[in-house]
Amino acid sequence: MSFKLLGLSEPLLKAISKKGYETPSPIQAKAIPPVLDGYDVLASAQTGTGKTAGFTLPMLHILSETKKEKFRPIRALVLTPTRELAAQVYANVREYSEFLNIRSAVIFGGVNQKPQAANIRKGVDVLVATPGRLLDLQSQGLLSLKRVEIFVLDEADRMLDMGFLRDIERVMKLMPDKRQNLMFSATFSKDIKKLAFNILKNPVQVEATPENTAVEAISQKVYRVAKGLKTGLVIKLISEGNWQQVLVFTRTKHGANKLTKKMISAGITAAAIHGNKSQGARTKALKGFKDGSIRVMVATDIAARGLDIPLLPHVINYEIPNISEDYVHRIGRTGRAGAKGEAISLVSADETVYLKAIQKLIGEKLPVEIIEGFEPDPNASTEPIKPGQGRNNRRGQSQNRKPKTDRKKADGNSSRSNNRNKSRSRNRNRRSNN
Ligand code: AMP
Repeated sequence: MSFKLLGLSEPLLKAISKKGYETPSPIQAKAIPPVLDGYDVLASAQTGTGKTAGFTLPMLHILSETKKEKFRPIRALVLTPTRELAAQVYANVREYSEFLNIRSAVIFGGVNQKPQAANIRKGVDVLVATPGRLLDLQSQGLLSLKRVEIFVLDEADRMLDMGFLRDIERVMKLMPDKRQNLMFSATFSKDIKKLAFNILKNPVQVEATPENTAVEAISQKVYRVAKGLKTGLVIKLISEGNWQQVLVFTRTKHGANKLTKKMISAGITAAAIHGNKSQGARTKALKGFKDGSIRVMVATDIAARGLDIPLLPHVINYEIPNISEDYVHRIGRTGRAGAKGEAISLVSADETVYLKAIQKLIGEKLPVEIIEGFEPDPNASTEPIKPGQGRNNRRGQSQNRKPKTDRKKADGNSSRSNNRNKSRSRNRNRRSNN
């Protein structure tokens, strides 16, 4: 199978070959033809499968085939949950459209809106956006979605996790009914299926990995360990294994900062990446991590979403997530593009329930090991931390927070906090800890 056989135009083939891609990834081979044929597509694919090119290439092909008007209305909208993912998708759009007459722009919160609005005013064919900033600019009359022909919802499951359902519904109302819709998601809960039903018309379904299953190329392991010994164990694993590129997940921003400091004290170069970090700090950390000057990146779930890190050999769950789907997302960061990866989870007694839930979701029992000197505490309670207790609990921790500020941090949105219902508030609380 070659990209040429998929029916993509010469300028796109040139850009693909410049990127060094030789053959389409499975999701690309499956998704590109129906998208080119104008079908709605529902794709099951996680980051690392090449999904971005899976929707970007045919989208650009379609857009470039029609004659351009003097003023460029937004004809394709890609909605992503996080600014990192938006920036990454935009970078891909730019690269793939290098030899086409296509203009694109990206907008997300947390930065000044003026340059973004000015860019759009000049006319763009493709807009990549996070929901908050998109609706903000739209409500100010700075952009219109009335001419959108192709709508892409990327990482739809994460969108719902982050409480963007109402925003997605609002965005849909701003676009014409007649349009092509593409939806990508790593997991398929009931809510996702419902959303797909509402957005897509007679979709072609494509899959890169089986639903809700962990990628086979990833070797997974659990270390049972006492809570207080986790930091020591992480440092031992990284130092003794001489691991050079490790992504470590913590459940909270505070936890990420604390662990990063301890690693640095132990002589391991590390940086934290989470919602409280400025865009500049995140970009710098990611750059360092990619070029090898930073060995360990400590991240919270939402901050890590959409990070484009090819061939990541090690992922460590310092704490396992209490939302099982997050586990699949986290370990999806390793074993990318056919390379084998290792996903390690440190599990203390109070995480037992979460471990069981994860094993149920992925349909397998994870091998458990205990390392001498880092044994679990036999007297520790297996009772999970209840909401409202302890700072490791997302919902509990966020109860005292001001939702408005939290939301602003997560998506940089500022002006639309009035029409929230209870479920939004719950989801917002989840976001606030990332
Ligand atoms: P994505 O799943 O879209 O985040 O892509 C994951 C990584 O795979 C990115 O670094 C892409 O540049 C790369 N990639 C995408 N398509 C291909 C391909 N056909 N061959 C090789 N690498 C690819």
